[in-house]
Amino acid sequence: MADKLIYLDNNATTRVDDNVYEAMLPYFKEEYANPSSMYKFATKASNALKDAREQVRAFFNAKSEKEIIFTSCGSESANTAIRGVLNMNPGKKHIITTKVEHPCVLNLYQTLEKQGYKVDYIGVNSIGELDLEQLNDAINEDTALVSVMYANNETGVINPIEKISEIIKSKNPNTKFFVDAVQVAGKIPIDVQALGVDLLGISGHKFHAPKGVGALYVNSKTIITPLIIGGHQERGKRAGTENVPYIVGLGKACDIAHDFLKYEATEVKRLRDKLETGILKNIYNARLNTGLANRVPNTTNIGFEYIEGELILLHLSDLGICASSGSACTSGSLEPSHVLRAMNVPFTAIHGSIRFSLSKYTTDADIDYVNSVLPGVIEKIRNLSPYQEELAELKRRKSL
Ligand code: PLP
Repeated sequence: MADKLIYLDNNATTRVDDNVYEAMLPYFKEEYANPSSMYKFATKASNALKDAREQVRAFFNAKSEKEIIFTSCGSESANTAIRGVLNMNPGKKHIITTKVEHPCVLNLYQTLEKQGYKVDYIGVNSIGELDLEQLNDAINEDTALVSVMYANNETGVINPIEKISEIIKSKNPNTKFFVDAVQVAGKIPIDVQALGVDLLGISGHKFHAPKGVGALYVNSKTIITPLIIGGHQERGKRAGTENVPYIVGLGKACDIAHDFLKYEATEVKRLRDKLETGILKNIYNARLNTGLANRVPNTTNIGFEYIEGELILLHLSDLGICASSGSACTSGSLEPSHVLRAMNVPFTAIHGSIRFSLSKYTTDADIDYVNSVLPGVIEKIRNLSPYQEELAELKRRKSL
């Protein structure tokens, strides 16, 4: 095992920022009161909760801090939004989503289908862009909810949320719009008012807060039922004593992320592009799965044709490099990613697709190292491929 650690899997999770960690510490052992308690000792905890809510409100540009609900993760934010909206509209049984959502949304819809809901899954084109015409045509009088992710976790492709809001409002103003914004928080600005969304969820651990905390924006015109029923916390929308240290961490991460947006758009993007250019220039069987689609600045998804992604990841891991494969290993069989399948990525590349996701901690030295070792790794694996003729043809075409 190499001593090096080159962490390029920031869409899976991120390192906690030192300033986030420091901000959380007092709330474990000193200011540990329950923020709902009446005595003076609880004042600091309850003020910390208020401050964090204001930080998240500002991060979203929401109108009021009453529109913010703290949750435990992105999955809980999505489940609360979706079930909460549907429970308030029991007469409406139609939902629209996309084929490329995260499993926390897709698997919930599969459950809802079994309970009598009709769900339309909107497709994407070969570079991951959503079919807006199909979405427009699918909205009808019975549509209770549209849910579309802001950016895809595997490809980084950004959906035109503002445009989708306009389509929904023009077709059926009573339809609610939920956006899973987990993969954009800290990467591009989020402005819930400009976007025109009704509900929007994020997760702390994707932008340098710890795992186990998230937030959900619900605009003041949208009423939802709680997913977790119990005490009066979160204005009755999410029971359970608030996780004060983690919520403080989330608030701090929002402040820091806001200040880093420019860095993401310039430096993180520069490093991502440097990695991408290096790979595409030096490895003849590499293809950029997203082509020219609009993407978050930190993500690239590259297919290495005629070789296995898992093998690439194992070799990279031995060199201290963490990345992720486009395919998920389910019940012993290697199922290609539902996202890349929806994009019709050719079978020659789908199994060999790798996601690299950078962060503000990624350096030029990290990228130089990956660019220096990756061609050798790919060549070694290519030599074991049963598709030698096809590879020779690819090489010939690339050098033309
Ligand atoms: N939505 C997207 C797009 C994600 O990428 C993830 C996590 O990978 C989630 C939701 C779920 O977030 P969490 O792990 O906080 O539940």
